Amino acid sequence: MKPNPCIECGACCASFRVSFYWGETDAAPGGLVPARLTQPIAPHHVAMLGTDQAQPHCIALQGTVGQPVSCTIYALRSSTCREFTASWEHGEHNPVCDRARAKYGLPPLPPSGV
Ligand code: SF4
Ligand code: SF4
Repeated sequence: MKPNPCIECGACCASFRVSFYWGETDAAPGGLVPARLTQPIAPHHVAMLGTDQAQPHCIALQGTVGQPVSCTIYALRSSTCREFTASWEHGEHNPVCDRARAKYGLPPLPPSGV
């Protein structure tokens, strides 16, 4: 099995605003994302701290983009993070992954099997 490319990337966690419904935070019953790591951005939506700015960088990202990185709240991350897949991970191209990687000088991931 090919290694997960994300463990030496993290570019998407430091490229975009990561927002989601506030009910995903632990301020709501059943919510998981630590609310203390989020900020309100709309009446019913929050963003991960550090991502609602000109140079986004999620507060939960540990390490340097392009080197070994980890998400300090991996098991508690939002649906936005869970649903964002590395390009070709499920056989589908994700141009947004490519864009994030390009921002940090990383090449696009090759299609599976290449
Ligand atoms: S919560 Fe974790 S997976 Fe989501 S943007 Fe932040 S570091 Fe990345
Ligand atoms: S930009 Fe793509 S390869 Fe990099 S961490 Fe995000 S999903 Fe993974």
